[in-house]
Amino acid sequence: MSSPSSPASPSSAPAPANFIEVIIEEDLAAKRVGQVVTRFPPEPNGYLHLGHAKSIAVNFGLAEKFNGICRLRFDDTNPEKESAEYIRAIQEDIKWLGYKWEGEARFASSYFQQLYEWALHLIENGHAYVCELSPDEARDYRGTLTEPGRNSPWRDRPAAESLDLFQKMKAGEFAEGSRALRAKIDMASPNMNMRDPVMYRIRDAAHHQTGAAWRIYPTYDYAHGQGDAIEGVSHSVCTLEFEDHRPLYDWFLERLPLKQRPRQCEFGRLNPGYTVTSKRRLRQLVEEGAVAGWDDPRMPTLSGLRRRGCTPAAIRRFCEMIGTTKSDGVVDIAMLEHALRDDLNKNAPRAFCVTEPLRVVLTNWPEGHEERIEAPAHPERDELGTRGLRCARELWIEREDFREEANKKYKRLTLGRRVRLRNGYIIEASGAVKDADGRIVELRCRFIPDTLGKDPADGIKPRGVIHWLPAIGEGAAVPGELRLYDRLFLHESPGAGGEDFMQHLNPDSLIVKRGCMFEPGLAQAKPGQPFQFERVGYFTADPDHRPEAPVFNRTISLRDGWKDRS
Ligand code: ATP
Ligand code: MG
Repeated sequence: MSSPSSPASPSSAPAPANFIEVIIEEDLAAKRVGQVVTRFPPEPNGYLHLGHAKSIAVNFGLAEKFNGICRLRFDDTNPEKESAEYIRAIQEDIKWLGYKWEGEARFASSYFQQLYEWALHLIENGHAYVCELSPDEARDYRGTLTEPGRNSPWRDRPAAESLDLFQKMKAGEFAEGSRALRAKIDMASPNMNMRDPVMYRIRDAAHHQTGAAWRIYPTYDYAHGQGDAIEGVSHSVCTLEFEDHRPLYDWFLERLPLKQRPRQCEFGRLNPGYTVTSKRRLRQLVEEGAVAGWDDPRMPTLSGLRRRGCTPAAIRRFCEMIGTTKSDGVVDIAMLEHALRDDLNKNAPRAFCVTEPLRVVLTNWPEGHEERIEAPAHPERDELGTRGLRCARELWIEREDFREEANKKYKRLTLGRRVRLRNGYIIEASGAVKDADGRIVELRCRFIPDTLGKDPADGIKPRGVIHWLPAIGEGAAVPGELRLYDRLFLHESPGAGGEDFMQHLNPDSLIVKRGCMFEPGLAQAKPGQPFQFERVGYFTADPDHRPEAPVFNRTISLRDGWKDRS
């Protein structure tokens, strides 16, 4: 299996063993377990999100730490909601995160025959029966949290009768909902999951893997632990909401002829702040057009995060930082943003983008003359090489980098004062050309010769450094679009107080800026390649990007603007 290296970070001290690691260490020491085998078990009914990334990191991380293996198993027992498209996308996302599962991807559906045979075994031994209560009746018999349930009138029918009926269910002789196979446990159990839970239901649905072969489908509770057992899983790691299912998980395993039984361990779900992760809510965002699709860069889906420019290293580091605990609290999303800035600052090449261009004419620069200037791709990483910028007589600078007059605190360009063009010459503003409305349309400046990487000979230092791009000539900037993304919700736990989560949407979560100017080399950028546009933020090319019409997504701002807002 692969071992994704964790990005180095100032805060990455070796973490003490978490409670699941302690359990595993004990099982290994007591020789209850030979090899550590884990699995990531997505249901292929949606796209993976940040919460799944945590589960992936935990499962693959444990296998890595204990020299074991981690499998990928699709828990595909609900054919109506599942699809081959989700199966493809889930695999792509796991690979993108940097993990490699052991062998081929597995499917719960490929165990249907074994599960069926084990069901026969349970019926024969008096542990399961075919029940003919309608779904409504069965609900009524089930009781409530405060009242025990009642036994189904079919509970004590002879095993032979149940066997016969179960085989007929399989053969498609009964209508959907008319019968179910149930485990015979305890209708008075305080744990509702133990009140004769359904193991098989009749479904007139074709399955994406098994086609029309099956007319009955196992429930999650019956399929999951048995799938784990078939795969030799030693530790079946899941989230806390399955804690109440553990007695049932063990109940099935104890009644089947197995050599080794997996052990279920639960940890707290990851609930990242300022977003939602339930598949139902994510679907609602897509269907109601609040976002452009599952891979909208504002979505917490891995495909959305990828399109946004978030790096796998940052996600893995985030999962490490939040730890693995029994708590279900909301996690501060600023931790992911911190991990992301850290990674991008170290690894993203620098480039220039002028977001609100103002034309500058260098009045003392010879007409038609261009000069190539080598700028480092990264200020600290020489191995990333340099990029060529061409200084010409006409340039673009940010409109907000010039004011006619300003006080001493303003470290940019004002009339009669100097700034340095980043990696280039020092310039001095001499005049502003205005249109009829008084809006500045062009700036007249003088460049100070012999100031490339040097102080000016006259000793008058520049007041600051600004970014720029050539407006004419061979290296002229290319106009295009920036998509500035922000958190999708204004509330840390959208909808937590029972109100509609949609009312907490951030109306400014996407701002599109057109007419921005890009360094020509950026035309060839590929989606996913990170850049720091100096003084502007971290960006990556969107799949909509074209060399002649650049489109860049803001991955994240240079600094955390949310700290100041709260
Ligand atoms: P739903 O959103 O419908 O509740 P799910 O998120 O449980 O579905 P699965 O495909 O069943 O979707 O999840 C696969 C695995 O990922 C499971 O083991 C599940 O426990 C884990 N998982 C899902 N969400 C989170 C989360 N927020 N934090 C940690 N693990 C998660
Ligand atoms: Mg689930």
